Amino acid sequence: MDCIFCKIGKSEIPAHKVYEDKYCFAFLDIKPHAKGHTVVIPKKHAVTLFDLDDTSAKELLLGVKKVMTILQKKLSPDGFNVGWNQGSEAGQVVPHLHIHIMPRYIGDGGGSMHSIIKNPGELGVEEVAKKFK
Ligand code: 5GP
Ligand code: ZN
Repeated sequence: MDCIFCKIGKSEIPAHKVYEDKYCFAFLDIKPHAKGHTVVIPKKHAVTLFDLDDTSAKELLLGVKKVMTILQKKLSPDGFNVGWNQGSEAGQVVPHLHIHIMPRYIGDGGGSMHSIIKNPGELGVEEVAKKFK
């Protein structure tokens, strides 16, 4: 398959590896938004989390925890933002699921998850809640 992240996961394309196990591969983002900005991918190709089997999904989260532990040890950040862009409308560019781990440092000028979007739409929380009943 002609997928750049599949190729990185198989070490067919070079990347600065941070961590690897049977299920996942983590490497430094080529255009970092923070010192140590790392992406963690499942080795199995999946465009989004919906496409990934449950075992790989569980292992991916364990991989994220391991990578965060490594970054904490090596770079001593003061916090992290962790997440992924799912779907092009949400900013996904590479169509292979990847979790961004962005180490945060005091005074780095960044925002929080809440700065991604501030547009709750027309419905109030009570009306949205009815959809889950
Ligand atoms: P997305 O917007 O799809 O969530 O983010 C894709 C990320 O992958 C971007 O942050 C981009 O810099 C990174 N990226 C894209 N191609 C490569 C590559 O070939 N090598 C590495 N190390 N990172 C890449
Ligand atoms: Zn892939």
